[in-house]
Amino acid sequence: MNFGRYVVQERQIGEGRFFSRSRIDGEVFVATVEGAYASLYREQKDLARHPEWCPFLRREREGAAYVCTIYSSRPKFCRLFKCARMDILDASGNRVGRVVGRRDLVTSDATLRSCWDAQVRALEADDEESWWKEAGRRLERAGYKVVIYE
Ligand code: SF4
Repeated sequence: MNFGRYVVQERQIGEGRFFSRSRIDGEVFVATVEGAYASLYREQKDLARHPEWCPFLRREREGAAYVCTIYSSRPKFCRLFKCARMDILDASGNRVGRVVGRRDLVTSDATLRSCWDAQVRALEADDEESWWKEAGRRLERAGYKVVIYE
């Protein structure tokens, strides 16, 4: 997936190895480019055309498939992404909730649960995109930081 805005390459520490950081939860991790993707990784063409991409994302040479060139060492939020549409963080940047499935909030934070029930759960919108945007706005007005995965 393309989380370009959220993955930062801090510095190279060896051949195909980079100190990296997740902007979402602050995780610092060593990204190691998989051997099979080493030459694909070195091709910077797509990245030059799409500076918003994650620095480890590449398009396969044949076909339109995209690959994570650091799949085994990708950060935690990428590993958890599949089931999430939205992460909800408190003012300090700690994740306090996650929205999975169609619109199911997973949280152990009673304050967030009340906020969700009062301001988001019954929200109606013309289409999915508008619903997620408005849900995000309402949560941000309540003091949360929101990351919506497209
Ligand atoms: S590290 Fe891999 S999975 Fe995570 S955003 Fe980058 S390319 Fe996608």
